[in-house]
Amino acid sequence: MAGRGGLLMLENFIGGKFLPCSSYLDSYDPSTGEVYCHVPDSGEEEVEAAVEAARAAFPGWSSRSPQERSQVLQRLADLLEQSLEELAQAESRDQGKTITLARTMDIPRAVQNFRFFASSTLHQTSECTQMDHLGCLHYTVRAPVGIAALISPWNLPLYLLTWKIAPAIAAGNTVIAKPSELTSVTAWMMCRLLEKAGVPPGVVNVVFGTGPRVGEALVSHPDVPLISFTGSQPTAERITQLSAPHCKKLSLELGGKNPAIVFEDANLDECIPTTVRSSFANQGEICLCTSRIFVQRSIYSEFLKRFLEATRKWKVGIPSDPSADMGALISKAHLEKVRSYIKKARLEGAQILCGEGVDKLNLPPRNQAGYFMLPTVITDVKDESCCMKEEIFGPVTCVVPFDSEEEVIQRANGVKYGLAATVWSGNVGRVHRVAKRLQSGLVWTNCWLIRELNLPFGGMKSSGVGREGARDSYEFFTEVKTITVKH
Ligand code: NAD
Repeated sequence: MAGRGGLLMLENFIGGKFLPCSSYLDSYDPSTGEVYCHVPDSGEEEVEAAVEAARAAFPGWSSRSPQERSQVLQRLADLLEQSLEELAQAESRDQGKTITLARTMDIPRAVQNFRFFASSTLHQTSECTQMDHLGCLHYTVRAPVGIAALISPWNLPLYLLTWKIAPAIAAGNTVIAKPSELTSVTAWMMCRLLEKAGVPPGVVNVVFGTGPRVGEALVSHPDVPLISFTGSQPTAERITQLSAPHCKKLSLELGGKNPAIVFEDANLDECIPTTVRSSFANQGEICLCTSRIFVQRSIYSEFLKRFLEATRKWKVGIPSDPSADMGALISKAHLEKVRSYIKKARLEGAQILCGEGVDKLNLPPRNQAGYFMLPTVITDVKDESCCMKEEIFGPVTCVVPFDSEEEVIQRANGVKYGLAATVWSGNVGRVHRVAKRLQSGLVWTNCWLIRELNLPFGGMKSSGVGREGARDSYEFFTEVKTITVKH
């Protein structure tokens, strides 16, 4: 919808209707640094209206059969797929990611999320067990929890929001979704498809705005018993505090400081391009991105030389350029934060081998004020350095040598996070041994980011609480009851 000054102006989606808001936030095009969209700056009033709508829709939606709900999800998947190109263009512009990534990963995955949960929800069964000596039969029943608050970050906007909406509504809940205020456009576009897909009014409500205003109103609302959150660890702490007085059900998917471990028997022809991708895909703004690369000393020099050559070929370009490997970072503030890590690394005596401050960006004049940065490789950096300990969430990776298997496991585990790790080795025994000992919710060996949606996804330690996936999401979005019948 065109608004002030011809800019895109979004509206909240509550009870099946688009509703204007009394105030708006500016949203920037990361590739130019210009405002191009206005996002509702919602607060308590909008959350109250969304809770009302979600509450009213719950009895009807939750009493539909899983098959009926599944059909609605299937139709929504089809409609999203029909709009794939339009959504990909919008996601790329709003987030700064390349159009290629939006076309091949973000939007196809959003479609798949609805298809996947439309199917998986039909195959969930409950448990039954017997105690014949006491004449008892025990079984479980599951029911949707009620109104689910779904809060998502800016890095994979529609992808991560639909990964929450799909299992929540498939299980019979009604939802209030709050996308990141930095990337709200594709969630709003999805709302335009809900009626046609047959989603009844009030089943999916979307309130836009900031964390402190609309996010906090949502998580502290007494009638919202469940929160699924993906974002940063400090926000998760705040959400945990606010929801504690109400004992809400929480799922927290947080950050990482993900190691890649490259043993001397690794296939470098596969490892190097994959590790460049795992470090810099989506500008390094994926929670699963590699940011510490441990390389066995005997191959360290060769690895580094080839890794640098491949990184220098990784093309930074405007998001709409189909040949670009990397686009713009999300915001000016984030770009400055990422750059500050490079400054700190220099002060600590580390070497910056390519990227920020070493090579020059080549951008069209219109994009000079965009939030671009070159992929950056740091070496000679200590494990205690902030670059090796803190989540940078940008196109920055550290490469360091190691000597033994035991040593590298200790060092890889030596951070507060535990989300994802990759292990590169041709030795099957070693791969199993190391994968088992890594403190990490996900371990990829000789590959990266191959996802099987049936299996649990989530982190250990400060990377989160809970798991998502076919069975895990179903269990999270339902309450279980154990019934004992004595006969
Ligand atoms: P963020 O925590 O700043 O924001 C995430 C969401 O929470 C946004 O919608 C934001 O508006 C909202 N929010 C902020 N403050 C809030 C508050 N006080 N109450 C309620 N809601 C609030 O995170 P971000 O910067 O948008 O995203 C980057 C982070 O997300 C990184 O740490 C990244 O690793 C993590 N992430 C994790 C996963 C995963 O699956 N584990 C996936 C993607 C991103």
